[in-house]
Amino acid sequence: MLIKNATLITWEAENRVLNDQALLIENGHIKETGSTRELQEKFPEEEHLDARGQYVMPGSICAHTHFYGAYARGMAIPGPAPKDFPEILQKLWWPLDRSLDAESIEYSVLPCLVDAIKHGTTTLIDHHASPNAIDGSLDIIAGAVESSGLRAVLCYEVTDRDGEEKMKAGIRENVRFLERTKNPLLAGTFGLHASITLSDSSLDLCRQAVPDNVGFHVHTAEHEADEYDSLDKSSMRVIDRLQKHGILGPKTITAHGVHFDVREIQILAGTGTWLSHQPRSNMNNGVGVAQIESMLRAGIKVCLGNDGFSNAMWEEWKAAYLLHKVHHRDPRRMGGYDVTRMAIYNNAALANVFFSDAPIGQIVPGGYADLIFVDYQPNTPLTAGNLPWHIIFGFQQSMVTTTIVGGKVLMRNRELLTLDEKEIAAKAREIAPKVWDRYQNEVARVM
Ligand SMILES: [Zn+2]
Repeated sequence: MLIKNATLITWEAENRVLNDQALLIENGHIKETGSTRELQEKFPEEEHLDARGQYVMPGSICAHTHFYGAYARGMAIPGPAPKDFPEILQKLWWPLDRSLDAESIEYSVLPCLVDAIKHGTTTLIDHHASPNAIDGSLDIIAGAVESSGLRAVLCYEVTDRDGEEKMKAGIRENVRFLERTKNPLLAGTFGLHASITLSDSSLDLCRQAVPDNVGFHVHTAEHEADEYDSLDKSSMRVIDRLQKHGILGPKTITAHGVHFDVREIQILAGTGTWLSHQPRSNMNNGVGVAQIESMLRAGIKVCLGNDGFSNAMWEEWKAAYLLHKVHHRDPRRMGGYDVTRMAIYNNAALANVFFSDAPIGQIVPGGYADLIFVDYQPNTPLTAGNLPWHIIFGFQQSMVTTTIVGGKVLMRNRELLTLDEKEIAAKAREIAPKVWDRYQNEVARVM
């Protein structure tokens, strides 16, 4: 396939914006780039996809999400509103994930995938929990992802909160999925819920179950409670404790890190462990603001995720850009280049940990053809230098018109080609009352 008449945003290490370009896509990869005229003459027989001057750039990557959160949309939490994050877990997320069965897992995933394709998010790193439907849950998610054509990394959140049997079932589910036959668009990692719901012996069992070449995906210090629980259990802070159990390293993703101290930041930097920042979620849960700029300065590979918010990553860019300014009462904080470093360069490097055969997240010959077309008409000059501010103040997700993953077109001119949005939404709505009824029963047990 030849994409022609594109205004390319390459997102190479030295980003370039190039007019009137063409891209030859072959076997899921970008084979060649050049001027439209040159490549059209060279490959006259090739099927054409005309970008009509739109911006063509790598799709967005999400470093941390939860498809299972889809049924929380519009759901009422009975009784007084949760007053802090531990109560949000107790009254919202844990009763909700206990309410998921095979059918509702699938129909929590599919609407998120529709959202991702429409909004140009082409790689998603998910963190899944469904304590009453553990076995095979990752296959259900994988099946939905395969039907969408998107790229994803999956895992199951191991936790002690539902007893030893389910903790062990979570380990088995991760290991089973890691060993299953590989689809080139799917990868696995090993999920842990958080230090606060894992005993020393469970952490050791997880470590023993995982081959050395596989990393973990775990929430860390999202709320102070995680730190105080860790200090109670081990006289160590969360990151020190995870390090002692062999959880950290260049394949492990820690999410949040809102309450890290300086030593925890040093340990993450020293071990090459990834940290994913989710500003919309942190604001919504009122958990505080992570020291993201300090972490970047310390050399931590900080990425950007959405924690189950919409798969519209430019919204997360905007939240990151604004949150740190208001928190520090200083408009100089968290500049556009800091956001770009997380959302573009570090997210791409993280995705490459799991899909390591070719460059991802940049337009270079040989790279994965994960691309989006953006119909943006800038009212001022757009250059490689000022692009971050065009994205933050000008780009909207509604401007994404075409989404391509691994060379396959998933949406063309806003028409979804792999998933039927109306049918998925209708089926999800049909199941919702059953999920919400089970949730009411579950939440009654903890109130
Ligand atoms: Zn999360």
